Amino acid sequence: MNPVSAALLIWYKNNKRNLPWREISDPYRIWISEVILQQTRVNQGVVYYKSFVEQWPDVNQLASASEQEVLKMWQGLGYYSRARNMLVAAQEIVNKYNGVFPRSAGELKKLRGIGDYTAAAISSIAFDEPVAVIDGNVFRVLSRLFNEETPIDSSAAKTTFRMMADSVLDKHNPGEFNQAIMEFGALHCVPKKPDCQTCPLQGSCLAFALKKVDQLPVKKNRIKIRKRFLHYFIFLQKEQQQCYTLLRYRGSGDVWQGLYDFPCIESDRILSIAELDHEQLFTAIKAVATEIIPIPDIRKHILTHQHLTAKFYVVKCKKGFEHLKNNSLSLVSQTELGKYPLPRLIDQFLQENENLFDNC
Ligand code: SF4
Repeated sequence: MNPVSAALLIWYKNNKRNLPWREISDPYRIWISEVILQQTRVNQGVVYYKSFVEQWPDVNQLASASEQEVLKMWQGLGYYSRARNMLVAAQEIVNKYNGVFPRSAGELKKLRGIGDYTAAAISSIAFDEPVAVIDGNVFRVLSRLFNEETPIDSSAAKTTFRMMADSVLDKHNPGEFNQAIMEFGALHCVPKKPDCQTCPLQGSCLAFALKKVDQLPVKKNRIKIRKRFLHYFIFLQKEQQQCYTLLRYRGSGDVWQGLYDFPCIESDRILSIAELDHEQLFTAIKAVATEIIPIPDIRKHILTHQHLTAKFYVVKCKKGFEHLKNNSLSLVSQTELGKYPLPRLIDQFLQENENLFDNC
């Protein structure tokens, strides 16, 4: 075993966090944990992981879930395509592989949504296949160890870092090693101010020797951010002692595909009521509204590629707004609202305005 691998494995033994997906070899649970961890920090990931495997303890049970149930469970994690892909992949495993996970990274990558990283994590940790994982933490550790200046978001990075990762991988213990190098990047060789003085890899680290730790890894592109301005309308109507609202289903091609939010007018900035008056939806709203109440706060919500600014209005209605229903708009009672998967922006707004429906 090379000295870097040996030092990493010792460090891991002494420092690893006690997490529910450690010390297991169930490929289903490893898969669920890896996909969740691509979306969130470990503390929050543990909560989602436990709920997920409690609801669907194996791949057969996940495969029989509905998309709405899976998206509801995923609510708040973002990148909802990952959740939809997990459901399709579970169905593929059941239908094409009789419910048995493929054992090699090459075969796992044929499943929907499983890329190089997830395939390597599952096959190495569950089946001891000697393939190296490369996630953001591994990129950072390797770029520093080898003083590698190839930008990690360039097309050349894949080959360059794969060679380096393979050179340090402990092929006799690939699952443990892969977890060790990821954990080391997450806890010790962190992006800012890593603790180089106590680092067990210091003697092998070229970035440390060359005083270049804070310059690595190199990134080429900055993410292009799209700014969006949303005006949401929360319809309220009382019918037979129940309060109803309208929810809009987000269709394919949308960042929130499969989720529900409220009817919305989108523009290039936040508009005044007078400016909204020129919008077709607003004309339809006025036709059924008895009162339109602006919520004073303007909310900001940041996604990886989008910055959202949202203004909410409560629309108190006369009887009979259900004629606004169409393929994408559904009439939903207050008591059923919790069953619908919502973007975090909407969910947080509702949680912070729990008395909203008192206006009904
Ligand atoms: S010496 Fe510093 S930069 Fe190098 S591997 Fe250790 S913590 Fe990371």
